[in-house]
Amino acid sequence: MKDPLLSDYDACLFLSLTNRCNLNCAYCVTHDSPVRENGGLPEINIPAFVRALEKTGKVFKIRFAGGGEPFLIPNLVEACAELTRRHYVGFTTNLTCANVREFAEAVDPRRVSNIHASLHVRELEDRDLTDRFSENFLLCKRKGFPVSATVVAYPPLLERAEAYRTFFGERGIDIFFGYFVGTYNGKRYPAAYTEEEIRTFGLSRIGLRAHPRYRGLCNAGFNIGIVWPDGNISPCLETPREILGNIYDEIRFNRFLKVCPVKSCDCPLKQYDKFLFERAVRESLCDLRIVKPLLEWGCRRLTLGKENRKIAPGTEEHA
Ligand code: SF4
Repeated sequence: MKDPLLSDYDACLFLSLTNRCNLNCAYCVTHDSPVRENGGLPEINIPAFVRALEKTGKVFKIRFAGGGEPFLIPNLVEACAELTRRHYVGFTTNLTCANVREFAEAVDPRRVSNIHASLHVRELEDRDLTDRFSENFLLCKRKGFPVSATVVAYPPLLERAEAYRTFFGERGIDIFFGYFVGTYNGKRYPAAYTEEEIRTFGLSRIGLRAHPRYRGLCNAGFNIGIVWPDGNISPCLETPREILGNIYDEIRFNRFLKVCPVKSCDCPLKQYDKFLFERAVRESLCDLRIVKPLLEWGCRRLTLGKENRKIAPGTEEHA
């Protein structure tokens, strides 16, 4: 499904520019890792990025996501103000940084696809950041940004799931639980969720069933890609060696859909943006519609050539 607020967009880039984070959640891939505290925080080269986008002639949705907290990037607000002149931006953020206020003033909510606010309840309690999160969330909501709050359905949170719903609900923040991908107590999630956990967290059974089966054709690299801290673009997290250019120079998408190269995918780009996947399939079919008549024409020529040879006097076939 297309992001409901967007008029249209042609392609999407997931920018994973930093692993630095101001929180240290137990279920995060960078939990207790040195990069969480000391990872680089590269400034975005705004003019070069805008130029590379313009060269493609496409309208982009640019999602700031990845292992770290995007609002820690020094010139994020300035970059978003510039990018949203023509493109759209979106975020996965813990929404606890001070510059969220500045962002809410500087950027037009109509150019924001969504703010996926990851609500890390335990970390916020430990660091006394619950109020900061709530204030930033409510500010974004008041300003008209499409903001939603998701808690990771981490098994140890089960007992307090309902209490969290009530607490934030009373503050005007509806929370949702999203499934945890990883290992807890030796069990692999999301496959290990019990019936009680699925019910209490309110997890989508369809999503859980589909989770390990994203193989087949994928639009990663066709109209969607991920961007590493140095600006290089790859189709997805599982294909880091395939480089489709650099956001500060040239963006080169593939001409064809990819056959997924891995056994199971934890980060299915075609699932994250179904609108772009469907669009990619349609455009590939268009390509086929162009290619098919050419193939038929080529086959006809071959057949005719063969028939002509059959009737030509003096040839072996004729004799
Ligand atoms: S690993 Fe995931 S994102 Fe990458 S090609 Fe396969 S399904 Fe698509």
